[in-house]
Amino acid sequence: MIKLLFLPIILASILLRASQLTAQEPDPADSLPPGEGKELVTAACVQCHALRTAVAPQRDAEGWKATVYDMISRGAQIFPEEAEVIIEYLSRARGPESAPSSAAPVQGYRDERTAVESTGQGELLITPLVHGTVLFQYQGRSIYVDPIGKTDYGRLPRPDLVVITDDHPDHLELETLGKISTPDTLVLAPEAVKAHLPKSVVLKNGDQYDFQGIKVQAVPMYNLVRERSPGIKYHPPGKGNGYLFVFGVKRVYVAGDTECIPEMKNLREIDIAFVPINLPYTMPPQEAAECVKQFRPKVVYPYHQGNSDPGEFARQLQSEPQIQVRTLPLP
Ligand code: ZN
Repeated sequence: MIKLLFLPIILASILLRASQLTAQEPDPADSLPPGEGKELVTAACVQCHALRTAVAPQRDAEGWKATVYDMISRGAQIFPEEAEVIIEYLSRARGPESAPSSAAPVQGYRDERTAVESTGQGELLITPLVHGTVLFQYQGRSIYVDPIGKTDYGRLPRPDLVVITDDHPDHLELETLGKISTPDTLVLAPEAVKAHLPKSVVLKNGDQYDFQGIKVQAVPMYNLVRERSPGIKYHPPGKGNGYLFVFGVKRVYVAGDTECIPEMKNLREIDIAFVPINLPYTMPPQEAAECVKQFRPKVVYPYHQGNSDPGEFARQLQSEPQIQVRTLPLP
């Protein structure tokens, strides 16, 4: 029997979600099976009134381990042996094979731009917002790519995770980040962003981060030919990051500011892709469409549009019925 010496488990980012669930929804905490660890989990979470949201997601052992150690890294005082019991219990009680909780689907923000994807582990809501800014909502978490102004964040969820592709002002906007972030918001970014945002966690091209069961991999983005001045590319290799997310069975690629680089062409099994289409910084619609024909995502959004015509991108892909193009005006 493990002593409950440290009860204030701070499931801080999860706690913030508590107020977003309504009282009418069935409480997944009600159906927690008996077992060693239930006492620990229950007692700890009740301290913070957030058991229902804490146990809403379904994750495997790796996912729960990441969650629990993420909480510890944020200040939760949990003995290592307690953490082991909690992880073991939750991966059994709230594992991928456990009965889906009716509270598990995201109770998230939606508007006419939002697409809903099934992941095998709940819904993924995709809402492109503006330019290079995209909102993903999954298992009660909100993830933003490059949140910049030009959009009203008042109705949008606060980010649990932000990923930044580059330090250029159309991708990194400190004022907006400051407004929307909470003390628990984690920022993943390339090294170039670190100087502006000391709290960010640096990912180099190829690095991978497991955010509470969501795999986030930094991938290359760079120019092949477009230059700011002779010999100086807008985006040199290795500086910025595109990102590859894994949400359950869905693989989502956000290209960042890039041309049709070999690393993009060589991608496989992409379910949803975001590809930039504007000059002079990235590539024109036709070139982007040709690149998409190489790696063949099931769904593609032309984003980072500038003055380019997303309709032109769609026309270039009309001959590819297996690739669904979703065009939205993204100023
Ligand atoms: Zn850009």
